[in-house]
Amino acid sequence: MKPTVALVGRPNVGKSTLFNRLTKTRDALVADIPGLTRDRHYGHGRVGNKPYFVVDTGGFEPVVQDGIMHEMARQTLQAVDEADCVVFIVDARIGITPQDKVIANHLRQISQPVWLVVNKSEGMQQSIVAAEFYELGLGDPLAISASHGEGVKHLMELVLEPF
Ligand code: GDP
Ligand code: MG
Repeated sequence: MKPTVALVGRPNVGKSTLFNRLTKTRDALVADIPGLTRDRHYGHGRVGNKPYFVVDTGGFEPVVQDGIMHEMARQTLQAVDEADCVVFIVDARIGITPQDKVIANHLRQISQPVWLVVNKSEGMQQSIVAAEFYELGLGDPLAISASHGEGVKHLMELVLEPF
């Protein structure tokens, strides 16, 4: 059975850019406007001879009143529930944000494997990029550049390895 990989993270970290690269489409809207991808968005990817489904999520828009978990539940929790594994994307240029911590707290409690991915790391040294994000408690951060395609194939080989 084809595994489903969910791409999650706060707005503007590069989920849709990675989705487009994995599915080789321009299907997911990439924008400079955070949170533009409103709905879950499904596509097909393949690494080597392994096909998989990938889900782009647009969730995690800032919700001050009820906290971010409320919004996460509404928009993305179902995608995470349905997924066989989760790619959690953070931003090398921005560093850890409070929203990242809320998401990480949730993802540490799910049963599926979670891969912590530090995007926008082109031109940066992998070990330095990764160091800051260990604090999220989700294991070894993997540095990639979704827009430049760096580290993406390696990431998906790791992600798909158990399937
Ligand atoms: P999403 O809100 O998480 O779906 O993020 P998007 O995919 O829409 O990307 C948000 C912004 O980050 C856009 O301006 C992208 O071009 C930019 N971006 C995405 N990936 C990278 C990357 O690897 N490096 C850099 N420098 N910018 C990126
Ligand atoms: Mg998006």
